[in-house]
Amino acid sequence: MSGRITEQVIEEIRARIDIVDLIGARMTLKKAGSAFKGCCPFHHEKTPSFHVNQEKQFYHCFGCGESGDVFTFLMKQDGLSFTDAARLLAERVGVVIEEQHDEKTHVRQLLYAIHTELAAFYQRCLRQTKEAQAAREYLAKRKMSDSLIECFGIGYAPAKPKNSILQWASKHNFTPEQLVSAGVLCPPREQSAPDDFYDRFAGRLMFPICDRPGRVVAFSGRLLAERRNAAKYVNSPETEIFTKSRVLYALDKASSHIVKHPRREAIVCEGQIDVIRCHDSGFNTAVAAQGTAFTKEHVSLLKRYADSVVLVFDGDSAGRKAALRTGTLFLEEEIPVRVAVLPKGEDPDSLLRDQGPSVFREALETADSVTAFQIKTFHEDEAQPDSIDALNRITRDVFETLAGCDGAVLRTRLLQEAAELLHLPYSALEQDLEKYRDAARNRAAHAASFKTKDTTSAPNASAQPDHDLDTDEGRQDDSQLDVLSAKPILKPPSTYEQSLCELLVEHEHDLAVLGLVEEFLPEHMIEHPFAKLLVRTLAEQRRTGEDLLAKLHQTAAPCWLPLLEGLLTHKHKMLGAKEMTKEDAARDLITRIWIARIKQKRDSISPSSTAETDAQRLTLSTLMKKLEMLPWESACLMMRSELQTEGYIHDASGA
Ligand SMILES: [Zn+2]
Repeated sequence: MSGRITEQVIEEIRARIDIVDLIGARMTLKKAGSAFKGCCPFHHEKTPSFHVNQEKQFYHCFGCGESGDVFTFLMKQDGLSFTDAARLLAERVGVVIEEQHDEKTHVRQLLYAIHTELAAFYQRCLRQTKEAQAAREYLAKRKMSDSLIECFGIGYAPAKPKNSILQWASKHNFTPEQLVSAGVLCPPREQSAPDDFYDRFAGRLMFPICDRPGRVVAFSGRLLAERRNAAKYVNSPETEIFTKSRVLYALDKASSHIVKHPRREAIVCEGQIDVIRCHDSGFNTAVAAQGTAFTKEHVSLLKRYADSVVLVFDGDSAGRKAALRTGTLFLEEEIPVRVAVLPKGEDPDSLLRDQGPSVFREALETADSVTAFQIKTFHEDEAQPDSIDALNRITRDVFETLAGCDGAVLRTRLLQEAAELLHLPYSALEQDLEKYRDAARNRAAHAASFKTKDTTSAPNASAQPDHDLDTDEGRQDDSQLDVLSAKPILKPPSTYEQSLCELLVEHEHDLAVLGLVEEFLPEHMIEHPFAKLLVRTLAEQRRTGEDLLAKLHQTAAPCWLPLLEGLLTHKHKMLGAKEMTKEDAARDLITRIWIARIKQKRDSISPSSTAETDAQRLTLSTLMKKLEMLPWESACLMMRSELQTEGYIHDASGA
C-alpha cells in the first residue's frame, strides 16, 4: 500500500474537479446530446466512441470498453498509481492531503526530492561556476539559447573539488547512501576506503529526465571532452522511480501538443539533443527513448496520446535498421508509422540548426510509410532489385514488418502501397501475407501450447469444457488450451461482448438497441454463454413484460453472478438513457463481434495450404475487410444475407 488518502478527501477532490474540464484539456470533446464525445485516447479510432458524461462524472468507450472517473482516467492515461493521481488532482484544485506513508512511499518521495534539488544544483553550477565554462561554450556552439537551457533544465555536474557532491548532500541533509540509491553516486569499490564514493556524473553536461507529470526521475550526462574509457553518455541506473522502458524523453512537454495535433502525430527521434532542437524549432511533439532502444512499453505509453507517429532516425544503416524495428513495434499496436529521411549525414539537430525548420518540415511531410521506406531502402542497397530472388527477399521482409499488424485496414493499405512499389499484383501479395500470418500464428499457438502444458496451474480454464481435445499441431485455440489446465475458472466475455452486455443492460427497455441485437446477433453469433443468456433474458422480458433482468439474480447459475453484479453496478455509472448514439454504439459492437467471429472461423481452417483452404481463407478475409470498411447500411445487408443463406460463418460457433 502506498500513502493512504481519506475517503473524505477523495470526495472533496471529486466535488471540485469536472471530468469534462480534465479530459477536455487533453483531447477534443464535442457535445452530443447530454454527453460529450471524442476519439478514444485508449484505443485507435477515427469515429468517436468515447463518451464523457458530465452529470455522472464518468467516461465510457463503446469501442474498447474503457470506463471510469477522473481518477481512473489519470491513472490509465499517465500510468499513475491511485495515490499519485489523487495527489495530482488535489494539487490542481487546492485540496490538502494529509497522508500516512509507508516505507516505500517514503523512499520514492526521498528520491523525487533528491532529483529535484540536484537538478537545481546542476543548473546553478552551469550558470555560475568557472569550471562550467567549457559546458557553456559547448552549448553556445550548439546554439542552445538560455531559455532553451532553462526549459529543459540542462545543467552541469561539477568535478572539482572531488567531493563537491558530498558537500552538497550534507548541506541538504542527504546521506551518501541515499545518493547511491538515487543512482548518482557509486558505492566505494575498496573496503579500505569506505568514503571513496564515485560521482557517476562528475564533469558532465546534465540533462534531467522527467516522468509524464514532469517530475525529475533520472539524469543523462554527456561527456564534454573526449576521455579515455569514458562513454559519451551516462544514464542513471533504474531506481524505485525510474524504469527506462516506461519513460520517454520530453513526453512531459510533448503530450499536450501531441493530443492537439490535427493527426495526433508524435515525432520520435533518436537523441535528447534532437528532441530539444525539435521543440526549440516549433516541432513540440517530439520525444525519444531514454538510454535504450524503443520498446513495446514505450509504444503503449506513446499510444495514450498519439494516433500516428513519424520516425526521424539517422540515415546510416544502424539508424535505418532501428527505424524498421521501431516501426514494426508501432504497427503491432496498429499505429500508422512513417519514416522521415533526412539528407545524408544530417540529424534533426544539425539540420534544424543549419538549415532552419522548412527543410525539416518538408522531410516530415514527405515521410514515407514504414513499408515504402523499407522497399526504397532495399532498392538502394540491392544491385538487381528486380531479380526474382531479390523480390523474394524484399517481400519476405515486408511480410515480417506487416505480419504483426492486426488492423486489417492499415495492413491492407500498406500492402497496396507495397504492391505498387514492387509492381506486383495486390492479390498475390495478399495471399502470401495471409499464409505468412497463419504460419506465424501457428508457431505462436504451438509455442503457447507447450507453455500451457508446463504450467498446469494457469488460472484461466474455459467455460466450455466440452471441446474435443484436438492435438493436431497448431490447431489449439485458446479455449482448447484452457481445458488442459486443472482449475475451471470462468473466462470473461470478450471486450466487445462485454460492452454489448453493458449497453443492453443500460438500455434494457430500449426496443431499438435490443431489436438490432436480436436481428443481427442470433445466439450462434454470440460466443460467451453469459452474453447469450443476457440477450435471451432481455428478449423474453420484452415479450412477457416481466422484470426478468431483476430476477436473473435468482435464476442464473451462481457462476454468472459476479458478471451480472458487475453489469448492474456499472449501470448507474453509465451514460444517461438520453444518449444520442446508443443505436450507433449497438451497430458498431455488432459489426465488431461479427468480425471477431469470422476471424475465429478463419483461424480454425486447417493451416495446410490447398486450393480449398486458401480459397476459404480468402473468402473470410474479404468478408472481414468488407464489414470493417462498409458503412452500416451496406454491412447490415451483408449480414442479413449471410444469416438467411446460412453462409460462410453460419457454423462459426456451432462447430
Ligand atoms: Zn476506446
